[in-house]
Amino acid sequence: NGDKDSADFAVKSSSFPKFKEPELNENLGYFIKKKLRVWCQLKDGQWELGHIQSTSAETASVLLGNGSLVIASTGELLPANPDILEGVDDLIQLSYLNEPSVLHNLQFRFTHDKFYSKAGSVLIAINPFKKLKLYGNDYITAYRQKLMDSPHVYAITDTAYSEMMRDEVNQSLIISGESGAGKTETAKIAMQYLGALSGGSGGMDQKIYQTSSILEAFGNAKTSRNDNSSRFGKLIEIYFSATGTICGAKIQTFLLEKSRVVQLAQGERSYHIFYQICAGASSVLKEKLNLKAASEYKYLNQSSRLVVDNVNDAEKFAQLMEALNTIHLSEEDQQHAFEMLAAVLWMGNISFQVAENENYVEVLSDEACKMVASLLGCSLEDLILALSTHKIRAGKETVAKKLTLQQAIDTRDALAKFVYASLFEWLVEKINRSLVKGRWQSRRSISILDIYGFESFKKNSFEQFCINYANERLQQHFNRHLFKLQQEEYESDGIDWTKVEFEDNQECLDLFEKKPIGLISLLDEESNFPNGSDLTFANKLKQHLEDHPSFKGERGGAFSVRHYAGEVLYNTTGFLEKNRDPLQPDTIQLLSSCSRQLPQLFASNMQSQTPKPPSNGPGASELHRKSVGTKFKGQLFKLMQQLNNCTPHFIRCIKPNSKLLPGLYEKPLVLEQLRCCGVLEVVRISRSGYPTRVTHQEFAERYGFLLSEFGVTQDPLSISASVLQQFGIQPEMYQVGYTKLYFRVGQIGALEDTRKRVL
Ligand code: ADP
Ligand code: MG
Repeated sequence: NGDKDSADFAVKSSSFPKFKEPELNENLGYFIKKKLRVWCQLKDGQWELGHIQSTSAETASVLLGNGSLVIASTGELLPANPDILEGVDDLIQLSYLNEPSVLHNLQFRFTHDKFYSKAGSVLIAINPFKKLKLYGNDYITAYRQKLMDSPHVYAITDTAYSEMMRDEVNQSLIISGESGAGKTETAKIAMQYLGALSGGSGGMDQKIYQTSSILEAFGNAKTSRNDNSSRFGKLIEIYFSATGTICGAKIQTFLLEKSRVVQLAQGERSYHIFYQICAGASSVLKEKLNLKAASEYKYLNQSSRLVVDNVNDAEKFAQLMEALNTIHLSEEDQQHAFEMLAAVLWMGNISFQVAENENYVEVLSDEACKMVASLLGCSLEDLILALSTHKIRAGKETVAKKLTLQQAIDTRDALAKFVYASLFEWLVEKINRSLVKGRWQSRRSISILDIYGFESFKKNSFEQFCINYANERLQQHFNRHLFKLQQEEYESDGIDWTKVEFEDNQECLDLFEKKPIGLISLLDEESNFPNGSDLTFANKLKQHLEDHPSFKGERGGAFSVRHYAGEVLYNTTGFLEKNRDPLQPDTIQLLSSCSRQLPQLFASNMQSQTPKPPSNGPGASELHRKSVGTKFKGQLFKLMQQLNNCTPHFIRCIKPNSKLLPGLYEKPLVLEQLRCCGVLEVVRISRSGYPTRVTHQEFAERYGFLLSEFGVTQDPLSISASVLQQFGIQPEMYQVGYTKLYFRVGQIGALEDTRKRVL
């Protein structure tokens, strides 16, 4: 129960003031005198580096790098970092952590082919969109032996592995970022490292690696954002033996995008596997399944995009067959899977004819229909009946009601989506069985989570609603971890950590999860309501949630949620339908009557998940399945429970441009992602509290000589205390720990200035 986990954490929202960056205003004279660089925001919103030439009242004239002179309000200038900090590995090392400084530092690294950076413990990975010579055995060895320590996926994976071995605690690598940012590639790089470390795993590492390519064939597609976009979330748990070798794995998947099977946006493709099998199946297989070219299938040819640049689908199919053999999927099972794929393709070609002067349809009994019946193993009559009528119970009788064209199309598409999603689940199950072998030796694990990041588009629907809800949960996990790290450090050094402010997003999570008045509950309620519509849902939200601080009702059946990463406007159109994901009992009945193994299995899986409805009364003919939203919420709670048992390591993937090109860094796009994935939050959290830490020894050595009375016999702590007193550092601006002094932002600056003047 995830509700519990919000209570067992001490989240303080103390009344302590926020400590902001030192204002440039206060130090203008200093910046002018020393000819220090500042950030100046131009009319287009972009920040440019420049030097202040002169000031008057509230404005300053600033000479920009390109030689032009602009007048800016001094309140709008931000301090820039000194040259020596240009391109530092870790953002936390910057003196000034304002947005333009962070953005600039990452850009500087990017233009010098440094795609990995750190923000404290978080790894930032910018997608290079080109092959890097940074991977492979030489690099793996170098990172393993600590000969290299620049930020890298290998480095963070090594930390996870070492901590697992040292502390005997399970670890997680949490990878997030927007579509095309490089999450899936990063996950593979991490797996490659773990595979190489644990030599002698008896081929288990290869097997795990191969499963990625199987899941990619069935769960990835070309979208406008990524030619190989994963349309599902994935957690892969890798098990290690006591000696540290890989001995097994388990995969969990989340929210496969089913709609893609039947509906495509222009320029996008359906799942790779469909094109691969059409292009690459042997002539025997083609004949058996009566396979045509991809362009012959309506589910595929509704988009004009049938190929991906630089990808050979036939070759990919050959590789897939190899991968299926590696995980020992039997020939028979492979055959079954291919039959289901062909059945789905043919389903899309089933067409309907509206009876003359009538409101209902008839199924055209053509090649498509016959192929589906034969591939599923049912009679043509049963298939036609299931696609053109619904049985409804009236008293003790059941009558068949004929369907309208739209109803028939929806029923057909629901069947196709169900068969495909079931096939995907079945495959994951088969993969897991092949990875389970050595699990008995398993002591501990590293879990790699590759899940879609926060999304905010022009039009946001139910999919974004679910994805952003998940990200809100992950963000809380992230915040709490960072907070905990800080807390542990403060506590171990005897610092009063209650003086550290920490913001939580529990409020927004409550908005989603609270029962009975929360977004998911209200959506379910409306979905179960016979007369419920997207609009009545939107009105209900307004009625019940208008006072919630994270919610705003909008016009035209829309609503906004204030997420940690910004406000998102959701359009409720389609919410109820997507949440219900309706499936007719007739469809399940049809599948359970099939002679083929898989349709039967899919139907019985469904029936076992569905509590039996009362045998009469309204709704008796409906399947009482869990709604998509509630099911996802349950999965997410389970995921969070798992993650709560791991020491997390975070990787934030960033897409440098939306053209998927190397060498192009679009600042607004990057900034947006830094906000969404919480990198700026990390920076903020590290800046709150006492970000500057110096040991007593260091502090005494560095500033002790500034004391007017300097006793040689004094210990470092006494010297430090005298320095603090002499320079009038306010007591609330620092704390004295057992080993270190902790300062609020900007406190060391004054001391440094004095030191430089004296030296
Ligand atoms: P995501 O899973 O975040 O949607 P992917 O991992 O599929 O994104 O990456 C999208 C594309 O970006 C890849 O197909 C590849 O071309 C490129 N890419 C990502 N990471 C790297 C990398 N480390 N090196 C080279 N190319 C990469
Ligand atoms: Mg992906």
